[in-house]
Amino acid sequence: MALKSKVSSLSGDSSSSSTLYPSASLVTSSAASSPLSSLFPVSMQPAGFSTTLFTAVVPQKHQKVDEHDCVHGWLETMKASSPPRKEHLNDNNLDEASFSATKALYYNWMEEHPSALDKLEDIAKEAEKKQVAVFLDYDGTLSPIVEDPDQAYMSDEMRSTIRKVATYFPTAIITGRRRDKVYDFVQLAELYYAGSHGMDIMGPAEGCNGVKANGFKDKNNMGNDIVFFQPASEFLAIMDKVYKELIIKVKDVEGAKVEHNKFCVTVHFRCVKEENWSTLAEIVQTVLQKYPDLSLIQGRKVLEFRPAIEWHKGKALEFLLKSLGLENTSDVLPLYIGDDRTDEDAFNILRDRGIGYSILVSTVAKATSASYSLRDPSEVMIFLQGLVNWRALQDGNLPNGCAHIFGH
Ligand SMILES: [Mg+2]
Repeated sequence: MALKSKVSSLSGDSSSSSTLYPSASLVTSSAASSPLSSLFPVSMQPAGFSTTLFTAVVPQKHQKVDEHDCVHGWLETMKASSPPRKEHLNDNNLDEASFSATKALYYNWMEEHPSALDKLEDIAKEAEKKQVAVFLDYDGTLSPIVEDPDQAYMSDEMRSTIRKVATYFPTAIITGRRRDKVYDFVQLAELYYAGSHGMDIMGPAEGCNGVKANGFKDKNNMGNDIVFFQPASEFLAIMDKVYKELIIKVKDVEGAKVEHNKFCVTVHFRCVKEENWSTLAEIVQTVLQKYPDLSLIQGRKVLEFRPAIEWHKGKALEFLLKSLGLENTSDVLPLYIGDDRTDEDAFNILRDRGIGYSILVSTVAKATSASYSLRDPSEVMIFLQGLVNWRALQDGNLPNGCAHIFGH
């Protein structure tokens, strides 16, 4: 199989110019004026707009690679999909004209992808008498993006919020990480977990919020009854082999990290000096050539080996909807929140079916199939808390500490 057909890019943005956008809370300022603003606890109100934080929108191109330039192509796209850290940019980097132009571009983008905080009232209206189901990415959605993927902890406040979400709605985490790893971060047994981009799905046999999934029955290592589904189980041995091989081959590349995500193996470039990126990418290329049944995906400072099967977060979403009995019904309102290119597959499913709402978490303008946007995990938490409070209000069960917020 030619490398050309094996490599997928996660980038779909046709923008070719590097543009700077304010990353602070332009989008959330109107949340306070929303009729439903009282659903957001005061402590969770987003900060107002600040001009001190900026993030770059960098070019993201569809990548054309072949045997000769694939390494260069990977690195180009990876740089494009990995905006520089905020602290590298500040007001001093922008002249007034650039600032105005970028602010205008940002507002234009927000017109097409308004803040989900502003749209909560619309969502709530549509959700009345419907079964809401919540699907959440993990990294960059529930936890901040960090240098060390092993340190991507979610806050206790976020965990508490997710726990409340699962009290009211069937809830699933859909992540590129291995399922057991993200479970260790989240630590909520009542959720469904779809790890390895949905290739490893597990949930509580008793269901989540009364909604049970069909699947293979088993027990987890704590003896609890679970249901699971693994569409790529025949690849487990190959992934172990690839992981071991990569660990040995990258050991001399300072900062390189290889993560075994069970059905995917991820090579992290984040802590590697940029001058050594091509060396690491060449190692990846060498290993990839030996495994014709695998494909390579590019993400934010990562290259990832995956089974070359038609399976992704969108398929996982479809599978979960079906196995939860939430498919083919007009009584269901799925919400999907994610920050990565891999989440676009799920956004596309909702868009194509014309159901639910997809929400992109981003501080920058991006090409996306999502309907709405949120800026960062803190806004995700505010949105989810608002959703919980709305449903609690409907049920006549105001959450603790919220009575004064509703003026009752
Ligand atoms: Mg993510």
